[in-house]
Amino acid sequence: MFIAHLPAGYLLTRRIVGTRQGLRRAAFATGLTFSVLPDFDLLYFYLIDGRRTLHHDYWTHTPLFWLAVAATLALALRLAGKRQYLILVWVALANVLLHLFLDSIAADIRWFHPVLETRFNLVEIPARFQPWYLNFILHWTFAAEVAICAAAAWIWARARLAARPVEASASE
Ligand SMILES: [Zn+2]
Repeated sequence: MFIAHLPAGYLLTRRIVGTRQGLRRAAFATGLTFSVLPDFDLLYFYLIDGRRTLHHDYWTHTPLFWLAVAATLALALRLAGKRQYLILVWVALANVLLHLFLDSIAADIRWFHPVLETRFNLVEIPARFQPWYLNFILHWTFAAEVAICAAAAWIWARARLAARPVEASASE
């Protein structure tokens, strides 16, 4: 997936946060960050690894790793008596798992690594064009990405418009 991680993260975070007011900004910041965080491994891929290993094979694209991190954080927050922050752990985990699910549409993701090395992807994209990214952009799955972006832009714009009268009356 190329362009839809962030807008998909926005839609998911909106869904989780709902009308909740407490930690709303923090939840959106967390959700948007974690919706794209796994792909920061591209820095390692290009700058350090020399493109030797597919970045989808790094631990950053391993669901069980993120589940373990989330479980550890949730336990730590509970033991520290800071249960109110558990929502942020949930938002982060949900967004990372959404990222991996969206990657798994057209790319191989090892959902059960290190227990099972089977790779899961819904659609095989044939290599027909050069450069390589044209194969993805000219595939129908890219239309789904555009649709996710359009839906997020529409809902974001509607929310902004709905918030306008409240902002205007608050400033008077
Ligand atoms: Zn990714």
